[in-house]
Amino acid sequence: MSIAVFGSINMDVTAYMRRLPKPGETLHGHEYKLGLGGKGANQAVAARKLGSDVAFICRLGTDDFAKPAERELAGYGVDLSLVGRDASGATGLAIINVGEGGENYISLIGGSNLRVDLSDVERARPALEQASVLLLQLEVPLSASLAAAAIVRGHGGTVILDPAPAPEGGLAPEVLTSVDMLTPNETEAGLILGWQPETLEQGLQAARELRGRGVAIAVVKLGSKGLAVAAPALETVIPAFKVNAIDTVGAGDCFNGGLAHALERRQPLEQALRFASACGALSTTRKGASAASPKLAEVEAFLARA
Ligand code: ADP
Repeated sequence: MSIAVFGSINMDVTAYMRRLPKPGETLHGHEYKLGLGGKGANQAVAARKLGSDVAFICRLGTDDFAKPAERELAGYGVDLSLVGRDASGATGLAIINVGEGGENYISLIGGSNLRVDLSDVERARPALEQASVLLLQLEVPLSASLAAAAIVRGHGGTVILDPAPAPEGGLAPEVLTSVDMLTPNETEAGLILGWQPETLEQGLQAARELRGRGVAIAVVKLGSKGLAVAAPALETVIPAFKVNAIDTVGAGDCFNGGLAHALERRQPLEQALRFASACGALSTTRKGASAASPKLAEVEAFLARA
């Protein structure tokens, strides 16, 4: 049994600037970074760095950005056999400008991620039939993601949907009943429910409402405040660990990768959420997305000290 991740992969080109340029202005930045991104890739790498076997199902283009993306995945030990190539599409690309205060502009070109379809699901069927946990997000077409979900649920596996990036029009009711667990942050929960939770108590209320709409397990992530969970045998809040956060990009992806890892190792839900929360917290102490996610030994040492 293993973890499957069905989702997006991007290359992120990040320019670090003193401040963000205004429209029409040319500004010198002091550094750039080329790094792996996309919520699917971030979650796959997060689970892999913890030691899980990960089947990552995604689509790259055939342009020059596909090679560094593959190289980075391979460097983390992610199996490349389910990484497809889209002959007519560009690789997903995020062009990011970051100012000194951490403020940013992001231009995202979905490219081959937007062309993911049922053929990717079919290609990955054997891996999906083996997966005990499937991680989904909203950066590839939802129809393909839900087809992958049906295969994993068909043999009793657990499907976790991270409804990110925030779904502007909310989520169709049938989506909520097609997965086992939904893990929105406060903004995403707000778009789905029509009101945005701000406190942990409101997060719990939101999680209960999501359950009322048919999600078996709802986990509402509230950044540095922590999370709230509503499940059949568990309703509680879990405050965040106190860390010196310098970059919260990708915290949610590290959280979901950690959650999948812990559930695949059969940890009870509350313990798995604490483990995931430690992964999210640790990732905020370092820059980057995939690069910032912790290894298992770091998480274990952190939890032992906490
Ligand atoms: P997203 O990236 O999807 O918005 P969050 O920012 O809510 O997700 O982060 C997910 C989880 O990671 C949180 O529920 C929390 O457990 C942990 N986390 C995130 N930011 C911090 C922080 N600044 N300090 C401690 N833990 C954090």
